[in-house]
Amino acid sequence: VCLQLGVMTTINQRLDMDTMQTVADEFGYTVTAVVDEEEPEIDESSDDEEIDGERVPRCPIVTVMGHVDHGKTSLLDYLRKAKVAEGESGGITQHIGAYSVPLESGKKITFLDTPGHAAFTAMRARGSRVTDLVIVIIAADDSIMPQTIEAIDHSKAAKVPMVIAINKSDLPTSDPEKIKRELAERDVLVEDWGGKVPCVQISALSGDGIDDLLEILILESEMLELTAVEECSAKGSIIEAKLDKGRGPVATVLIQQGILRVGDPIISGVYNGRVRALLDEYGNKLKEAGPSIPVQVLGLPGVPQAGDIFSVTKSEREAKDLSQRRQLMKREQDQRKLRSVTLSDLQYKIQQGKMQELRVVVKGDVDGSVEAIAQELGGIVHEEVRVSVIHSSVGAISESDVLLAAASEAILIGFHVQTEPSARELSQSEGVEIRNYKIIYEVVEEIRAALAGLLAPSTEENVVGTAEVRQTFSSSRTGNIAGCMVNNGQIIRSNNVRVLRDGEKVFSGNLSSLRRFKDDVREVNEGFECGIGLEGFNDIKEGDVIESIEIVETLRTL
Ligand code: GDP
Repeated sequence: VCLQLGVMTTINQRLDMDTMQTVADEFGYTVTAVVDEEEPEIDESSDDEEIDGERVPRCPIVTVMGHVDHGKTSLLDYLRKAKVAEGESGGITQHIGAYSVPLESGKKITFLDTPGHAAFTAMRARGSRVTDLVIVIIAADDSIMPQTIEAIDHSKAAKVPMVIAINKSDLPTSDPEKIKRELAERDVLVEDWGGKVPCVQISALSGDGIDDLLEILILESEMLELTAVEECSAKGSIIEAKLDKGRGPVATVLIQQGILRVGDPIISGVYNGRVRALLDEYGNKLKEAGPSIPVQVLGLPGVPQAGDIFSVTKSEREAKDLSQRRQLMKREQDQRKLRSVTLSDLQYKIQQGKMQELRVVVKGDVDGSVEAIAQELGGIVHEEVRVSVIHSSVGAISESDVLLAAASEAILIGFHVQTEPSARELSQSEGVEIRNYKIIYEVVEEIRAALAGLLAPSTEENVVGTAEVRQTFSSSRTGNIAGCMVNNGQIIRSNNVRVLRDGEKVFSGNLSSLRRFKDDVREVNEGFECGIGLEGFNDIKEGDVIESIEIVETLRTL
């Protein structure tokens, strides 16, 4: 059939959706797309709400973001030295990507040790939702800067609550009120400005206010009611991974569900193995590690990527099978780039009802044009599809923009700007579409046009033929069959049908068979007799009228 259709293909080659549909059509079948081909026996999402079992509280996981030089590293250093060293002899000796800070109350907070939103969004783009809370750090002697805005937009896009830490409040030039005002101008209303976003003044150098910050983090996390199931196979995300000369591949994992134990069969990305050793941030050997506890895992045969999901499998055999299947998928994916964010993909998703929002990231050459585009796009309204500009700023398109777009399934719009070479490369590997424009009007028109396509088309039913039931036969194998005469038009196998009895609808649905004598046929014309089986309907009677219905879709515009 493929050859007849002019598609040159070999027997073990995968076909794209359109071709599959056409081929299946030839045989009278319809194809339903399955979104993800991942193996069902392992739940790949790091979204853990659906796991059954007793839930126990877990400690929050926090990421620090903010503009360069506003004090991210200083804050993480202060916490590590002042708050951790107290309890542990020797303190944290090595950077493993995360560490937990014990509080006096006996509670703990886990901090991700890679500051900045690039790491945060890169993990998200790989499907990991690790962070529970974000600290946006802003230097009080400075202003809200481009990366501050990015940090805010990235946490909003990820729907992770933020806490504002106004840093460097020890400096005489510090002006926290100015920062709060600037935040308000950006729609971030802090608590003492009548908003909901908690805000503290700190000094990452002297440690002033840091206890308050920790307390706020605990309070905020209590509101989130963070829990995890311990009695299930362990699952988590890779925070960091490297090849160690002496120890081989070493991965830092943040367990999100279950308890990981030495000896467990594991898989992450395409690598499978067995846990050989578990180490905490002090270099201590552990026998097991539970939710929200960062731990170094030895025993994988290769280095997975940060953001990869990590899971324990039932047996080593299962891990191995899975890993082989993944390697195969990966090879095919590399060739064909299955996951991509292009305008037409998004269009498809929205049509399928899987998305009600078209997300955009806008980068422009000057403030004025960026604002104008964001405003114009935000102004496109429709009850089904909404355009939401999740981030807009001035400057070249960077890696971080691409990651944000990939993680949020957004398209990237450039207006009179260059794309950094590294960002271009990343956009190709992530399959993110970058659309460049020179005229504002064009941007808006094109998005509008795309949206018109995005709008689920309106459907209309056309009756293309009717048949009258003359006789019924019962068949033990296929259920009742109606012997019919086509009165007008055509009865088409693939169309929906409606059954009318005395003018009232008694059934609507699909045909299960359409036959002329003993042969299955695709259509029967006016004046001919045929046998009709109805899917899931046996109560067919003499005198019923069967209508063959064609559904016509018309595109709507805004
Ligand atoms: P990052 O780029 O956000 O990681 O910023 P750093 O933590 O590297 O801090 C940048 C500079 O600001 C360093 O020279 C720090 O010593 C200084 N700094 C950070 N926090 C404070 C603070 O609370 N007070 C003062 N006076 N300086 C600070």
